[in-house]
Amino acid sequence: MIVGIDLGTTNSLVAVWKDGGPRLVPNALGSFLTPSCVGIDADGHVLVGEAARERLQTHPGLSAALFKRYMGSARLMRLGDRDFRPEELSALVLRALKDDAEAFLGEPVTEAIITVPAYFSDAQRKATRVAGELAGLKVERLLNEPTAAALAYGMHEGQRETQFLVFDLGGGTFDVSILEMFEGVMEVRASAGDNMLGGEDFATLIADLAFARGIREAARMDAGFMQRLAARAESAKRELGMHGKASFEIQWQDQHANVELDANAFEKMAEPLLNRLWRPIERALRDARIRAADLDNVVLAGGATRMPMIRALATRMFGRFPAVGLNPDEVVALGAAVQAGLKMKDKALDETVMTDVCPYTLGTEVVRALEKGQMAEGYYAPIIERNTVVPVSKVERFYPAHAQQREILIRVYQGESRMVRDNIRLGEIKIPIEPGPAHANGVDVRFTYDVNGLLEVEVRVVATGEARRLVVESGQAHMSPQEIARRLDALSALKIHPRDTLENRTLLARAERLYEQLLGSAREFVGQMISRFEQVLATQDPRLIARDAIQFRDALKAIEADSHFAPDRGE
Ligand code: AMP
Repeated sequence: MIVGIDLGTTNSLVAVWKDGGPRLVPNALGSFLTPSCVGIDADGHVLVGEAARERLQTHPGLSAALFKRYMGSARLMRLGDRDFRPEELSALVLRALKDDAEAFLGEPVTEAIITVPAYFSDAQRKATRVAGELAGLKVERLLNEPTAAALAYGMHEGQRETQFLVFDLGGGTFDVSILEMFEGVMEVRASAGDNMLGGEDFATLIADLAFARGIREAARMDAGFMQRLAARAESAKRELGMHGKASFEIQWQDQHANVELDANAFEKMAEPLLNRLWRPIERALRDARIRAADLDNVVLAGGATRMPMIRALATRMFGRFPAVGLNPDEVVALGAAVQAGLKMKDKALDETVMTDVCPYTLGTEVVRALEKGQMAEGYYAPIIERNTVVPVSKVERFYPAHAQQREILIRVYQGESRMVRDNIRLGEIKIPIEPGPAHANGVDVRFTYDVNGLLEVEVRVVATGEARRLVVESGQAHMSPQEIARRLDALSALKIHPRDTLENRTLLARAERLYEQLLGSAREFVGQMISRFEQVLATQDPRLIARDAIQFRDALKAIEADSHFAPDRGE
């Protein structure tokens, strides 16, 4: 049996071709979405999915997420006392999905079609294949995500030549692809995107209202508060889509904010974000030399396209209704299963891709000014954006943060995250400057990326012309067959948390996360529930455990929903 897998940055899904159609496979918790998170439990067992996601906050040193961003690089992520390559972490997610599919189908699963972004480079594609191998899967094929979305809508079935656009707005990125289907061959004609634009930005707009409504800016430094605020804003965003209005209350120390808004106000606020959707679309159309009017169809993918304002905008942009009917966060996995079905019938689709682009965003670190003269470090300033056609050379001017600085340090990063700590560091250059007013001490930073994946960074002091250079070679990260065999052995030796008790483990992880967020009597109450549930688990009585798990889950749900228990109220 061949399964189709959407190996996503935040969530992954597996689907199969069954009874003449693609079917999503639920995981051990009954959900189609498995968070792409891996963690190590106290007893050394590996946890994958929701339980690992819950533990990101409570056990950051034992949890990993967002590793898709590092596929194809040599970056290691440390979990407990062991370093993992991104391929290995992906392999653990793939193995969990394989187990889910086997439980669902009642037969062994040995082959998979795995989807990758259209802009993935050769190194990233190789790394994805290795991840499959490490998970015990023969990777039948890597399928481009936009192609998969199109297959889910049956766009390969028409006879004539068709051209369409896939509009994919996920949590943190916006990807546009133009595809052409002709005589059984699907071609990715162009892809463009904005790595700094996604559904999360819409939630951030809502969260920011709390500061306009009475919470002081200083609260931004309180990570716990920011997490609670982000969760409220995320629910409000979904609520706005469903009911056209939403409200929530939040408190920080002695300050209180009441946030209320309706769909119109939200859309007005979101206008700058909505405007940013145009550019990549125009660019993709231009690169593919197609006019919007010549598109046969528009396909929506990514969870954030569930927002009614995005659907309305897409309709206005293209003068037609986009294809809907499938859940946008499920179309890629469904499409992978369609390809699996075609393959099993021995008439799979051919696919071509263009990859003469710089597959990553390349940039440098900058300091941002906050209110009252405070400075925050660690922000990422993209210079060459992902998907830029190569060769390319771009220059940006930067200024020292302080007047008395004697040198400027330019750190070079690759990646798509807002903060440099989440990106891959490629190197750094230092250049001396004369102390003096910052505005007179600019340096020009030029990034040049060529067709061989060579990045050259040149830093030049504008006033004196003095320059320094750094050359970074990419694509260094391939694993040898021996290395793969060694990693496979090491992975096989890991103890994986048993699938049948994962649900209870996830409940505990969720309760531990709540315990850390809450204060006072509410925290104490959660602590007692955790101890009680641990005692019940120790009885090993399945009926007792099942009954208590239901109560435990309901109680946690009530606490999360009930604003009286909300930690920001203070007890
Ligand atoms: P994806 O990367 O495709 O899983 O998309 C994740 C993004 O979709 C996140 O920013 C979510 O907030 C967003 N999203 C998921 N469901 C909804 C919804 N019902 N309304 C608005 N945004 C949603």
